[in-house]
Amino acid sequence: MDDRETASLVEFLAGVRRVVALTGAGISAESGVPTFRGKDGLWRQYRAESLATPEAFARDPALVWEWYDWRRGLIAPVGPNPGHAVLAAWEDRFEDFAVITQNVDGLHRKAGTKNLLELHGNIWRARCTREGTVREILTTPLPEVPPLCPDCGALLRPDIVWFGESLDPDVLDRAFALSAGCEALFVIGTSSVVQPAASLPAAAARGGAKVIEVNLEPTPLTPHADHFFPGPAGQVLPLLDRRLRERTGGGRRGSGQSNGKGRSS
Ligand SMILES: [Zn+2]
Repeated sequence: MDDRETASLVEFLAGVRRVVALTGAGISAESGVPTFRGKDGLWRQYRAESLATPEAFARDPALVWEWYDWRRGLIAPVGPNPGHAVLAAWEDRFEDFAVITQNVDGLHRKAGTKNLLELHGNIWRARCTREGTVREILTTPLPEVPPLCPDCGALLRPDIVWFGESLDPDVLDRAFALSAGCEALFVIGTSSVVQPAASLPAAAARGGAKVIEVNLEPTPLTPHADHFFPGPAGQVLPLLDRRLRERTGGGRRGSGQSNGKGRSS
């Protein structure tokens, strides 16, 4: 990414209103969250793929919860990085800004992002297997394993989309609508190969959006992206944000366009 390309992107971003960021494991890894894949994913003798399934939970809910309890313990002390912070601040910069994440660690919310779609759920939430009600459980380690629903006594399960399960169709519909309707889509810290999230950049491009990729290494998306910024999100995003603030005089929604909603600027 040379300086002229950055300048033209900044010029473009200064004039857009609807922006979406799609994030994945890379931005969490920068904060120190293990990926729980490969060697990182081993717990006792188990692999993530053998625990994060409905079958494993049906067989041994306590074992599955012990594993999530361990993961929650690793994630609890981890904080958002400057990349998360910029995305949280962009809710003020752009008229419509949303984060769609594949991460379950809750770091976007910790950073202050409110307009957030969590495609794969959230490790800090549990769902009643009988009633479907969802509650937040922040205590770690868990006081009881497996935890039971305080309302009906049924088993709670992690509010996570497991291997072999479908994404919440509602969440997925909103993710596609946001992507198809945005003017710029950032793809950050994700290899863009896992479906259905991998289709979101294509939906954005079809809708006429610019696709801007921020990843450590090129990915299958890179040849299709309008811009590729190699590097950690925690460096690239603050740099872009600084350039954008310089361009717009630090103002919020700095393009000065009427947003048609009567909001004051
Ligand atoms: Zn219940």
